[in-house]
Amino acid sequence: MKCVMCRGKKFKETRVSLAPGISATAWSCQTCGELVLEPKAAQTALMLNKLRHGVTVKVGVLGKSLVMRFPAEVANLFGLKKGTRVRVYPESQDKVVLTRMV
Ligand SMILES: [Zn+2]
Repeated sequence: MKCVMCRGKKFKETRVSLAPGISATAWSCQTCGELVLEPKAAQTALMLNKLRHGVTVKVGVLGKSLVMRFPAEVANLFGLKKGTRVRVYPESQDKVVLTRMV
């Protein structure tokens, strides 16, 4: 692997924070300090950047319940799948926080 900035070849593995609670493996160029994320981490970083202003989902109806559908890329990012338990916290009259249960 060569550094795209300085063509250096020495890297040191390190952990970087992509967002609160989300860290990833990266390699730091020992010559110029450029960080190179592993491909999956780079994809996660791009997705987090895309979502920095939130994502709009529509409330639907399933039987007598209301449901929200998340785009697959959002579900994958947060590890949501059928059966995942999510806790809902009110933050204000029109703002809620969803927390994935582990
Ligand atoms: Zn470099």
